[in-house]
Amino acid sequence: MDELFASVGQEPANTRDGVPVVLLLNAGLSADTTISANDTVDGIGLFRTEIPFMLRDRFPSEQEQIITYRRVMANYVGKPVCMRTLDVGGDKQLPYFPIVEENPFLGWRGIRLTLDHPEIFLVQLKAMLRASLGLDNLSIMLPMVTNLDEIRVARRMLDRAWREVSAETPEHEVIRYPSLGVMIEVPSLLYLLPDLAPLVDFWSVGTNDLTQYLLAVDRNNGRVANIYDALHPAVLRALQHIIEAAQRFAKPVSICGELAGDPIGVLILLAMGYRRFSMNSSNILRIKYIVRQSRCDELQNLLAQTQDQQQLGSIRDIFGGYLTERG
Ligand code: PEP
Ligand code: MG
Repeated sequence: MDELFASVGQEPANTRDGVPVVLLLNAGLSADTTISANDTVDGIGLFRTEIPFMLRDRFPSEQEQIITYRRVMANYVGKPVCMRTLDVGGDKQLPYFPIVEENPFLGWRGIRLTLDHPEIFLVQLKAMLRASLGLDNLSIMLPMVTNLDEIRVARRMLDRAWREVSAETPEHEVIRYPSLGVMIEVPSLLYLLPDLAPLVDFWSVGTNDLTQYLLAVDRNNGRVANIYDALHPAVLRALQHIIEAAQRFAKPVSICGELAGDPIGVLILLAMGYRRFSMNSSNILRIKYIVRQSRCDELQNLLAQTQDQQQLGSIRDIFGGYLTERG
């Protein structure tokens, strides 16, 4: 099977009915933060910048961050690299910045923390911008956004960072202003999509946290793991709602949670209309193989059938059957 998957490595991720699909890498989870070039993907859809922060015993300096970020962007010249701003808190702790809370997943994490510490945020934004000089493949993504004001403040910080680094850059060099996006992973955003659309350039759905928060189930607690289900009908309806809004507002959207790298998950997402998927490197070839074996028109019909029959509950079996047939 591995050989079969490897055989599609250099092929485009087009479905059998000719629909182009973009496959991107989730990077940064391993200690190897250089992220070597991977020519089987179309770029990096999520670089988790907290990992290089977690591997140190103090906050990395701007210069240290520039080196890390530039290595990644330089390995993907001509391809998009989406860097997420620091997403610590929750399950991701910095040894030198302890956060003690009763409910860490509902607490001080992601953008909440960085907006309270503009000095950390600003240094990170500047490091990303400086690292992108001449490569021009950077986009920036905000984690754990709950309110639109968080985006407005973050945008002002990015404007300031860009103005300051541009002023310090020699005249013949230009730092491109990056596109700015948000993770859709806190359920409040589901009800704010029309207002969210004009504020950012793209959305990326974090199905790991979106599932956790929609179902009120800790994603890392084995005792309730049986309730954690990214194919729960409520999660699927949320995903359907997001793609419909993305299409209505012409907003580029991707999926960067684990569901994108799940064989049944990706088929359902294709059926809904999603076309950009970001996943761990270990899933890329298998998902590319599955995409190339599938037809979007068939998948859309399957999804319509599950909805006609009020069968969202058995969606796993229905799409699992399709996967087996296409083997
Ligand atoms: C997610 O929540 O789906 C996501 C991709 O981010 P993380 O797993 O880093 O929280
Ligand atoms: Mg998340």
